[in-house]
Amino acid sequence: MQRMVEIEKFDYENAYEASLRPSQWDEYIGQEKIKKNLRVFIEASKKRGEALDHILFFGPPGLGKTTLAYLIASEMGSQIKVTAAPMIEKSGDLAAILTNLEEGDILFIDEIHRLSPAIEEILYPAMEDYRLDIIIGSGPAAQTIKLDLPRFTLIGATTRAGMISNPLRERFGMHFRMQFYAPQELGRIVQQAAQKLEKPCEEKAALEIARRSRGTPRIALRLLRRVRDFAEVEDEAVITLPRTRYALDELGVNEEGFDELDLRFLSLLVEARGKPIGLSTIAAALSEDEGTVEDVIEPYLLANGYLERTARGRVATPKTYEHFKLSPRAQGALL
Ligand code: ADP
Repeated sequence: MQRMVEIEKFDYENAYEASLRPSQWDEYIGQEKIKKNLRVFIEASKKRGEALDHILFFGPPGLGKTTLAYLIASEMGSQIKVTAAPMIEKSGDLAAILTNLEEGDILFIDEIHRLSPAIEEILYPAMEDYRLDIIIGSGPAAQTIKLDLPRFTLIGATTRAGMISNPLRERFGMHFRMQFYAPQELGRIVQQAAQKLEKPCEEKAALEIARRSRGTPRIALRLLRRVRDFAEVEDEAVITLPRTRYALDELGVNEEGFDELDLRFLSLLVEARGKPIGLSTIAAALSEDEGTVEDVIEPYLLANGYLERTARGRVATPKTYEHFKLSPRAQGALL
């Protein structure tokens, strides 16, 4: 039996999401290449009786990085400890986590790009040689004590590939970039979740939710929850397409899956009439921080061809103008 110890629970990880988290590989839909590679590595390390190499997952929030960490732990028969970089403020915090690990444990650190350089320094020998260097005192009298750590696997997750320092990145033996999900895959995730919630969802209804979920399981599951509420109020045993459409329209979810922030972002670009806009200007106009713009809003728009990043700033693409029913030449028409 897998033992799970959670050091910290994340805000977003509410009971609903946790109850729908796949507990077996075949419930984890999509990301086929990543799954295939991981299973080979897991098999090989089990055969050799060694700890699995450290793994780094890149990708926007809600695409299934944490879920994969749990699945890896379950497949390895290991205990998993879950934390996030902002929780590790002092070197003592990390030392306490590391010294509490047992042989073969998995340590999952979310938002790993947010570790401070001093904390990163402690991780290097821990990752490379399973060794903890503790410095006692300061100045010429300072002493380093070396402690052996059990062989563990660090799984790091980050929404910002570019913000991981090179030395840290190089210490991960495996790097995986998560992809947005195709509507068919998200539809299966929705149907599977609906089954678990004992509220079956028609295939067409699941696809409708999928199409409007920005390619992201977390968003699809949230929308499913809302749609289920609408069906329940109407005493419907099954989630149907008409009820789904009605609910999503009521919730103001756009046909393309754009949410309000996406639409405000895109209208800014379109209104700029092809003139590139810088990240800081966009963030200020949307009242969001730059990190949210780069990590949460932009990846989906980039992946779907609604946004182009140039050296001088962000610009709309012909597809964006099409969406707003404008021709690129009539760019000023929106004003
Ligand atoms: P991340 O760590 O990338 O932010 P999570 O792993 O927390 O994302 O995923 C959010 C939720 O979406 C999970 O609770 C899980 O139920 C669901 N989920 C994510 N990926 C998949 C998948 N491939 N198949 C089924 N459900 C998924």
